[in-house]
Amino acid sequence: MQSIREIYKIGRGPSSSHTMGPAKACEIMLERYPAASAFEVTLYGSLAKTGEGHRTDYAIKQTFGSTPCQIYKNTDKTDIPHPNTLGIVALSHGEELGRHTFVSVGGGDIQIVGEPQPPAEDRYPLASFSAIRAICENAEISLADYVFRCEPESLRPYLNDAWEQMKATVRKGLHTEGILPGGLKVKRRAGELRLTGRREHNFIKKQDLLIAAYAYAACEENAAGEKMVTAPTCGASGVLPAVLYYEKEMFGYDRDELVDALAVAGLIGQLIKTNASVSGAEAGCQAEVGSACAMAAGALSALHGGSLAQIEAAAEMAMEHCLGMTCDPVGGLVQIPCIERNAVAAMKAYNAAALAEVVYDNRKISFDLVVKTMYETGRDLAAGYRETADGGLAKMYPALG
Ligand code: SF4
Repeated sequence: MQSIREIYKIGRGPSSSHTMGPAKACEIMLERYPAASAFEVTLYGSLAKTGEGHRTDYAIKQTFGSTPCQIYKNTDKTDIPHPNTLGIVALSHGEELGRHTFVSVGGGDIQIVGEPQPPAEDRYPLASFSAIRAICENAEISLADYVFRCEPESLRPYLNDAWEQMKATVRKGLHTEGILPGGLKVKRRAGELRLTGRREHNFIKKQDLLIAAYAYAACEENAAGEKMVTAPTCGASGVLPAVLYYEKEMFGYDRDELVDALAVAGLIGQLIKTNASVSGAEAGCQAEVGSACAMAAGALSALHGGSLAQIEAAAEMAMEHCLGMTCDPVGGLVQIPCIERNAVAAMKAYNAAALAEVVYDNRKISFDLVVKTMYETGRDLAAGYRETADGGLAKMYPALG
């Protein structure tokens, strides 16, 4: 299994598969064809249908810079290797220099069709929660210890940077007002939620509103195309920062403790990515926000001293109660239902971690089983519910004016 760095990519929103992945494909073309004077890009599948809302065009043009680039959208072609496929042709004064088909597999990762993938560096010998749990129980170590044993060199500084960026994103989001770009006229609400949360005397509402405020802050920054950290994707980048930010503010956890929690969450995310998917286009929102919810629930349980069984139960429960969640972004924008969904998932992570503290033993469903179930459920979802903006809220919401 690969490094958990893959789960936490620092970049610009609003979509790891629709902006970070295509941008990486363009960088590869620039490297391979330095003599190109122009490029032609054709977007297929979800990239063609929701690319405009996800700002795919903007990410491509930004990456090619001053080199002219023509972008086409083909929504008719269905025999494509992946729901997020793009073809790029390099041209020199009208002559073709070369062409490649890329698939954006989620979390900002890219593959070139027909070319062997560069061997992914295997940092983890084990790729199931049950096997890792057994090793940790035998060696009497925590999940965070296991992560840092597998990645002893530079992971902690990397996670420190990711945490610093998460905090910066939340803070900036809390202090930015206005309307999000894209045409839906969605008002930014993070600051307002925090103010109401601070005033609220009812403890439960106060906690919920503050957690929601932090999730909104991170997601609004992402939707605006600002700097953020995937966790495990751009669309789901509000859940984990929200709960960790709340923990820091309320309970004063220090950086090392929060980075240990990030390590646990990253391990959970990487297990999902390895054994299933974290791509909404491949398996619906359960793969994005559901995964983020499982990561956050596991991190919370670990932060509060949960046992391996309690951490597993928290992550499993969080994912179990996101099963079937569809991806239906209105207008193809990562705003409705995405922002609110992150906030609700952050609250759900607390519920799952709290329940798991008590009902962690004798569980019939393991984390590995729920991940397998999520993947199978995702593959059964009709295409309209997998980031095509053809179904669900995206279909029912009145057309943009
Ligand atoms: S609905 Fe979920 S998976 Fe789809 S774009 Fe929004 S956050 Fe991502």
